[in-house]
Amino acid sequence: LDPAGPHAAAHIAVVVRVRPPVGPAERDEKLAVTCTDGRIQVCWQRERLKDPLYQDATTALTRPTTTAKHFDFGACLDGDAGQAAVYAACQMSALVKEALAGYAVTTFAFGQTGAGKTHSLLGTSRTMPEGGSWPAGTPEPGATSGAAVSGSEDGLLPRALHEAYAQMKSGQAEGGVQYNPSMSIMEIYNEKVVDLLASAKSEPLPVRHSSSRGFYADGLLLLPCPTIQDAVKALRRGLARRSVRAQQMNACSSRSHCLVTLHIPTSAPPGQLNGSAPGPRRQGRLCFVDLAGSERLKYSGSAGPSLQETGNINRSLFTLGKVLAALSSKGRDGQPHRRSSFSGFVPYRDSKLTQLLGDGLSGRGRTLMLACCSPTAASAEETLQTLQYASMALHV
Ligand code: ADP
Ligand code: MG
Repeated sequence: LDPAGPHAAAHIAVVVRVRPPVGPAERDEKLAVTCTDGRIQVCWQRERLKDPLYQDATTALTRPTTTAKHFDFGACLDGDAGQAAVYAACQMSALVKEALAGYAVTTFAFGQTGAGKTHSLLGTSRTMPEGGSWPAGTPEPGATSGAAVSGSEDGLLPRALHEAYAQMKSGQAEGGVQYNPSMSIMEIYNEKVVDLLASAKSEPLPVRHSSSRGFYADGLLLLPCPTIQDAVKALRRGLARRSVRAQQMNACSSRSHCLVTLHIPTSAPPGQLNGSAPGPRRQGRLCFVDLAGSERLKYSGSAGPSLQETGNINRSLFTLGKVLAALSSKGRDGQPHRRSSFSGFVPYRDSKLTQLLGDGLSGRGRTLMLACCSPTAASAEETLQTLQYASMALHV
């Protein structure tokens, strides 16, 4: 595969998206985040009263001080940016093309709960329901004439699916390339991998490793999806199951990672390469990850299981952070920088999430991180943490 491409300059491309204020309370609030020309600035107020230095100060000195920190990213989008602008900033068309060319393309949405991860990935439209669950009585995709066209509030995932199927169609027509797309949807919750497309009572899947496949969830259903309607239908099914599980497990959607993958095995037409037949097989994939909320989970007061859950969620996100840190301390050629404190060891094995993302993070694939931020002052600290993760990813 040609290592050059639009996303080859960095292993991980980063796009920051700050959502608009939602609800009257947020709209009245003074916002903490501003984006200008690729620079994002977070301002927050430090109350002097809480600062020991000022404890005895007069009221004139008790006015809060404003602290600001800024980060530079290639693409920072604020609350005015719509779904189409985000799709363009992510250069998703090029990523789709690379998936069809045989690359493992991974897009993950990172950020605290409520920062807009699900909205950015799925959106709210006829194609995808808000929160991932379809209200009863919604017409089947394909039943309405607009189903083949991406709706304006569609997020990255349905847009990319539509584009992938359109590109496959033209590739098939022009070059005679055969694509056999299939979809898998899984959830990682408490370090257990659950197949959201298999039957409701399926057991958690073991994650195994082989030299040819890397890490994989053993037994994961790859549902053949020859048409876009099949893909959207599969997506609906998986996400409906996710929301049922979320209800059963007390808001687990904000604590679980959801991985939706379009697998695109390809075979070139016979005789295309050196007259040999049949053509070489390639395995591209387009994977979207809705990560668990990155906020530090506070001890909820309940017993054992929630503590374990907290540990496991932290383990996956914490390990993701460690993997990003280890990778960002290496050079582009995979050699550790001299300043590196890591010995080149990347701890993929430490969590299910990093095992399953491994290929996408390692530089053998294309990876995009969409860092989602809330604009409010109350979230400033979490926003800073998100941006710190994002700048680490940028240097991978
Ligand atoms: P997360 O998945 O990160 O927890 P959500 O995607 O559920 O966050 O977003 C939280 C709320 O904010 C939802 O009600 C969602 O519809 C709204 N929201 C998020 N991003 C946007 C946006 N760009 N424009 C309008 N509303 C948004
Ligand atoms: Mg969400």
